[in-house]
Amino acid sequence: MTAARSSAAWEWNPSTWRDLVVTHQPDWPDSCELTRARLRLASEPPLTSPEDVREVRQALAEAAAGRAYVLQGGDCAEPFGVAARRGALAKDKILGVLAERISHAMDVPVLTIGRLAGQFAKPRSEPTEVIDGEVMPTFRGLAVNSPLPVASQRVPDARRMVTAYHSARAVMDDLARRRTGDHHGRTSRDGLSWRHNGMWVSHEALLLDYEEALVRVDPNTGGWYLASTHFPWIGERTRAADGAHVEFLSGIANPVGCKIGPDAVLDEVVALCAKLDPERRPGRLTLICRLGAHRVRTLLPPLVRAVRDAGHPVVWMCDPMHGNTRTTGTGVKTRHLDDITGEAEAFHETLHELGEWPGGLHLELAGEDVTECLGGSGVPDETVLPRRYTSLCDPRLNNEQALLTVEGVLRSGLP
Ligand code: PEP
Ligand code: MN
Repeated sequence: MTAARSSAAWEWNPSTWRDLVVTHQPDWPDSCELTRARLRLASEPPLTSPEDVREVRQALAEAAAGRAYVLQGGDCAEPFGVAARRGALAKDKILGVLAERISHAMDVPVLTIGRLAGQFAKPRSEPTEVIDGEVMPTFRGLAVNSPLPVASQRVPDARRMVTAYHSARAVMDDLARRRTGDHHGRTSRDGLSWRHNGMWVSHEALLLDYEEALVRVDPNTGGWYLASTHFPWIGERTRAADGAHVEFLSGIANPVGCKIGPDAVLDEVVALCAKLDPERRPGRLTLICRLGAHRVRTLLPPLVRAVRDAGHPVVWMCDPMHGNTRTTGTGVKTRHLDDITGEAEAFHETLHELGEWPGGLHLELAGEDVTECLGGSGVPDETVLPRRYTSLCDPRLNNEQALLTVEGVLRSGLP
């Protein structure tokens, strides 16, 4: 912590995170390329508007108050270009189907948020990996390096951040066209759903050089907002309350999410809430819990009580994916549908027992017929996994598995 930071005169700006410890950033080899990429991004048009960001925040406030449900989903790591555009439309479609199902069963509006138009950077536990005997840097998302198993392609390249922006922009343009186009079949049975507004977007705000360059001033309020997305979140590995990522997101007007894993210490979570939601405003903060199927019933109640005692009206969201990742005997990363539905059901039941509203579900899903997670009729056993395993990072649900997860949630004792 710097002297300036602890003084009363400390004031946030988009680059104050640079004074703090920052983790999971690439070691960009060429500082001139990095500067050029940052300047270029800073001169590009915003991807979201302050009005839309405010609307998402208001919708999340409804979820915090128990009057709405949030469905967030998409790839672990998004592809570029045409694949990103095709993937986004497929995800819009399945999220819409799931939202209609939930809205109908729960009789509340469902807000759909894609994990896309910016989900291009990954934190990794290991900086290097060995492929066919060769040591190389790990893949960190297309905004950083290539997934190809070639050491030279794995070197971080700052120009990729500009490509990432343009890829996100093409997706946003497609979504906007959908929104203003034919709405037939896209509104819910009673107008309760927000589906007619289309899908909002989110991603992990990990690459702070990218995010900082896309902070803009809201001309109506004079405040700062993050124009790279509607709803940025902080990952499990970068949520230190005194770290750079939390500092960065503390000063922007967008609603923000934060992942909470099984190792989270209660005092840390309370400190995090204090920093991200000092005014205790409904809709500002969503805690995305990813505790694991076998630990959620034990770990969730003290967490909920601590946050409630501290007075933060958060949205409690369940990510049943990231606490349940396994590797098969042949080295394939997968997840069992039983674990995913098990955690989702236990999460909803536990919140219900605590008198709190389970505000939403966060899924990694493809919108396509992939074979990455185990379960359902399409992926009965491990031998099927390699057939259509196309994820750039973590295993995603196919449409049948996503529907089965939602049906599990709907069985878990909701009103
Ligand atoms: C992710 O959402 O892909 C991710 C890396 O999650 P977490 O930060 O919860 O591990
Ligand atoms: Mn993931």
